[in-house]
Amino acid sequence: MAHKELLARHRAVMPKWLALYYDEPIEIASASGRRVTDREGTTYLDFFAGILTNAIGYDVAEISDAIRSQLDTGVLHSSTLYLIKNQIELAEKIAELSGIPDAKVFFTNSGTEANETALMLATQARRSEQVLALRNSYHGRAFATIAITGNRGWSASALSPIKVSWVHGGYRYRSPFKAMDDKEYIKACVDDLREIIETTTSGDVACMIAEPIQGVGGFTSPPDGLFRAFMDVLDEYGILFISDEVQTGWGRTGEHFWGIQAHDVVPDAMTFAKGLGNGLAIGGVVARGDLMDVINANSISTFGGNPVSTAGALATVNYLLDHDLQANAAKLGSRLLGGLRELAEKHPVIGDVRGKGLMIGIEFVGPEGEPNPGAATTVLNESKARGLLVGKGGLYGNVIRLAPPMTLTEDEAEEALGVLAQAVERA
Ligand code: PMP
Repeated sequence: MAHKELLARHRAVMPKWLALYYDEPIEIASASGRRVTDREGTTYLDFFAGILTNAIGYDVAEISDAIRSQLDTGVLHSSTLYLIKNQIELAEKIAELSGIPDAKVFFTNSGTEANETALMLATQARRSEQVLALRNSYHGRAFATIAITGNRGWSASALSPIKVSWVHGGYRYRSPFKAMDDKEYIKACVDDLREIIETTTSGDVACMIAEPIQGVGGFTSPPDGLFRAFMDVLDEYGILFISDEVQTGWGRTGEHFWGIQAHDVVPDAMTFAKGLGNGLAIGGVVARGDLMDVINANSISTFGGNPVSTAGALATVNYLLDHDLQANAAKLGSRLLGGLRELAEKHPVIGDVRGKGLMIGIEFVGPEGEPNPGAATTVLNESKARGLLVGKGGLYGNVIRLAPPMTLTEDEAEEALGVLAQAVERA
């Protein structure tokens, strides 16, 4: 079979640490709407949307047309040394959408690079290499972002110039504070934060960086208001706050355009990537102007903000605003959460159903409540066998993650619930 041969070639020529899904990974040959078709002609409903890169879905005319018009000019890229209109327009739009006062934007090619840049700004501004991060976080795969990734399974190197202190507030389900109600939980996390600052740092910490809902960590969502409570402590020490919106941005969480808005916090900087380009390589940082301009040296990004990516990204942002996809994410997210919670009542193998909007995690447990990665793998495979692609994640690999394109329809939501009900029967 063709894909077996391709898999062998992948194994021979690409690093062993590049993760692949499924014993027999698929090769996507074409796609449209929320469905992808593999090289062998099997079509799947995509509930992981290429790991959240396809915010809107596949083969969207408005986005393809915008990219094509840029290609038609003959200019794939010039350089950030020259003016690029698409790029400036996109930056203006993101600055406005960010809610950050006097915001400025820097474009990158990925989420990793966006977080590296944000860390560079914060450490430079505060002249400190000390950073606070949440346990169970994921922020990227370069030197500094690996250091602040609180999940050994995804952190390839322990060597880093960054000094990290880890705090609670991410993965509540398996924290010592699990049994507490929201108010007690927030207080416990805030006390922990203060203690960590006082005991493991010199006090002059550069920043805290956090995902409002942890992505790779298993779509773990803290109670609303947690980060507001954190901010009161951070402000006391002058510590900056960076919200990593790589997964939670662009309305995916339904209630809000940015995940951090559920906490009534305006961060000093936000980082973004994935969904913005609806599949094109683009990421970036939006920060307070004085923070962005803290660097006293020249810089350049050879490909960050290239006009093809910015044309696609502008069309993506316009599409999701014009079609109010945030509202669709809220509506269908509640339907999915409701359906999954009913399923959880029938199946003790489901320990937790959580998330917001179209970012939903299902945590699988064993008889004693222990992590059950085997059940998650079964659901991943059984869903695929029934034409549904889902994601897997969590510190123990025991969480199924759902993140379909935000153009999802009601029928597709019901279809996915039906498949998941059958897949969970087998777990
Ligand atoms: N931050 C978060 C929250 C992410 O989920 C990811 C990617 N999984 C990254 C940063 C890194 O993004 P990229 O893979 O584009 O470098």
